Amino acid sequence: MTDQKNGCQRCGTCCRNGPPGLHEEDKSLYDQGLLRKEHLLTLRKGEWVYDNIEERRLMLSEEMIRIRPQPGDRACLFFDSEHNACEMYDYRPLECRILSCRDTRAIRSMYQQHRLNRRHLILKDSALFTIMNLHEERCAYERVQALAEAIIAKGEKNAPELAELSDIVQQDLQMRSLLQEKTEAAGSVLEFVFGRSLLKTLPGFGLELRETAEGYRFSKKENETSVSRRTLF
Ligand code: SF4
Repeated sequence: MTDQKNGCQRCGTCCRNGPPGLHEEDKSLYDQGLLRKEHLLTLRKGEWVYDNIEERRLMLSEEMIRIRPQPGDRACLFFDSEHNACEMYDYRPLECRILSCRDTRAIRSMYQQHRLNRRHLILKDSALFTIMNLHEERCAYERVQALAEAIIAKGEKNAPELAELSDIVQQDLQMRSLLQEKTEAAGSVLEFVFGRSLLKTLPGFGLELRETAEGYRFSKKENETSVSRRTLF
């Protein structure tokens, strides 16, 4: 919802369509504790996302942080559907103040500029900063994209790329488990520190991975191949 002077009727449509991306100007909300880790979702560089402004899927050229959607819904976490109101209206993020659904020129000109990322929020000498960087190094989407393309192109059950990608998936899961074990962090906090798990994001690369009683199962389109738990795929 935006200012009345911009013609906003406070209908809540934009809040229902998805949460805002955050910008460097919004860092003060985090510093003041008005936005916390569990409110935020990291979308990593190279991840396939749906862009609400462009209204199409695209691969992120830079990392961004947005407010989380409500569980099982795409509405913003802070949208009160019963009262059609924003629970943080007086200190809502920059995009919410700029967006006018009647004239999107202002939001289009700024929404990809000065985006907030984890390095703005996590202390550089902290253990969290170290593990975040380690995860980024070991589970970079640039590599995931190259491996997924090779796997899809080859379509071979024993392609060497399968083993490397399965190793990346395992490392992604293990680092989440480790942090949860050490800090009892909620799943929402893990999605701020590491972004969404590869189990959720691999479909964006044309691959799916799920766990079954026999082990993990990799699937591409209609074709599905069972593999042992040891190799994941
Ligand atoms: S922060 Fe408030 S104004 Fe912005 S999308 Fe969420 S509910 Fe709407």
